Amino acid sequence: MQRFSVCSPSSYRLNPITSMATRSGSLIWFRKGLRVHDNPALEFASKGSEFMFPVFVIDPHYMESDPSAFSPGSSRAGVNRIRFLLESLKDLDSSLKKLGSRLLVLKGEPGEVLFRCLQEWKVKRLCFEYDTDPYYKALDVKVKDYASSTGVEVFSPVSHTLFNPADVIEKNGGKPPLSYQSFLKIAGEPSCAKSELVMSYSSLPPVGDVGNLGISEVPSLEELGYRDDDEQADWTPFRGGESEALKRLTKSISDKAWVANFEKPKGDPSAFLKPATTVMSPYLKFGCLSSRYFYQCLQNIYKDVKKHTSPPVSLLGQLLWREFFYTTAFGTPNFDKMKGNRICKQIPWNEDHAMLAAWRDGKTGYPWIDAIMVQLLKWGWMHHLARHCVACFLTRGDLFIHWEQGRDVFERLLIDSDWAINNGNWMWLSCSSFFYQYNRIYSPISFGKKYDPDGKYIRHFLPVLKDMPKQYIYEPWTAPLSVQTKANCIVGKDYPKPMVLHDSASKECKRKMGEAYALNKKMDGKVDEENLRDLRRKLEKDEHEESKIRNQRPKLK
Ligand code: FAD
Repeated sequence: MQRFSVCSPSSYRLNPITSMATRSGSLIWFRKGLRVHDNPALEFASKGSEFMFPVFVIDPHYMESDPSAFSPGSSRAGVNRIRFLLESLKDLDSSLKKLGSRLLVLKGEPGEVLFRCLQEWKVKRLCFEYDTDPYYKALDVKVKDYASSTGVEVFSPVSHTLFNPADVIEKNGGKPPLSYQSFLKIAGEPSCAKSELVMSYSSLPPVGDVGNLGISEVPSLEELGYRDDDEQADWTPFRGGESEALKRLTKSISDKAWVANFEKPKGDPSAFLKPATTVMSPYLKFGCLSSRYFYQCLQNIYKDVKKHTSPPVSLLGQLLWREFFYTTAFGTPNFDKMKGNRICKQIPWNEDHAMLAAWRDGKTGYPWIDAIMVQLLKWGWMHHLARHCVACFLTRGDLFIHWEQGRDVFERLLIDSDWAINNGNWMWLSCSSFFYQYNRIYSPISFGKKYDPDGKYIRHFLPVLKDMPKQYIYEPWTAPLSVQTKANCIVGKDYPKPMVLHDSASKECKRKMGEAYALNKKMDGKVDEENLRDLRRKLEKDEHEESKIRNQRPKLK
């Protein structure tokens, strides 16, 4: 094993281990953590084991193709993320093969598959990375109970995050810190800052006799029932896998001055050929990259440079945002819902499927918003500020649609889709939690223009507008018909008219947010269904009275 700096196994959360059985088999169950470097579950599984069974389970819950979904993919994941996962598995398999092992791919409900593996292979030890997502929390209880009842040792270390969220919450008296600054104060320095990480191995134990469990190689997209055709040629440029993650990290941080001066939210959200941030998020999501290794690399750079930015704006500060959301999510019941979520303001959001679909499909009539949504659909990744703009537009900025519905679209389409971070940011952007300045709204016209006056980003993701002159690219409905004709893009025919008038829609949203905030204050956080229904009725009545103004549409010249 090649170590990176000095290791302290105590920094891993050990679940009871009955004995350090030496001549026995172990099973490492990969879910996230799709890497060899800094993988304590792999390290433990390989130690003193005669055989090791590295397993990945293709879970129909996430992976079953759904032809009725609004874009290719399963009901829970767009095809971009599924492809990214398969690439990551292929890369992991190839790394394991170089070390004398291989990845064993099985299909089915993971709990049942695991039970069968444990029965058939008679392993003494089951190792898997601890996961805080509700789906895995529930699954892991079942698997742990079963393993323990059959005398199998379970080792489930915290290695997806820098901190164990439970430790931070305990330090804070049992409650998650609700602001970034208080999180930093309470969390302190992660133990990985000074610990040694195992980065590589000279070999791994061989795979034992796998019997008749229906093991396969990593399947292709087609084998899973998806099409992988040329239509998708312009799809995500980001390739999955640990090798790609480490290459990308090395490249991203090779410019020490860039790392030292990194300052978010500065940076160009419209930069797509060379994004303004690292695009490490999909690799962190699947654990192709260890966040602890990333943290140590950044620390080493900061030691080498004279001056560098600090949290919350620095690159290391971004990793800590991830920790912040993991901790609040872990300690907040119903974190992914408005109802029953004590940190979430209760707001009478509108239900409007047609508007939601127009936003989702990039057909709002606002090129900046639509280009971002097309980037999401095609690439599964957008810059942080681009995510801000479309999330604000859908919720408190223009359409007043529930953040949970936008969250669902992001959750399915993002290649970095992450339960804690996605829900946390949607609450933030909709001013439901963490951030409350609902009067600050992103303009769907002027915000993007600041960064990209020529509209290169729009032209790339919305080719229908590629010949629109730059003075109209953010507001094509204001172009004279002769200009639209020359640009081969008639607004209302080739590209939609704006679905709302931003100025009046945002004013209306602010008014509704004001009323909702007042209600939450009056009820001291105890707003119930009936209160929301009453407020909705009142808002509708007010809206009806102002309908003439609200229904005005921009006139086509
Ligand atoms: P960099 O700026 O290079 O940051 C490095 C790493 O820090 C990221 O890879 C990420 O792991 C972490 N990070 C950066 N910003 C944040 C943040 N605001 N919150 C938490 N962690 C952060 N990020 C996801 O990883 N998954 C999601 O599902 C997700 N959903 C989002 C939904 C909305 C509405 C918004 C506004 C943001 C969301 N983000 C999400 C956060 C953020 O936009 C992405 O993490 C970031 O854009 C990823 O690009 P990067 O890797 O180049 O980031």
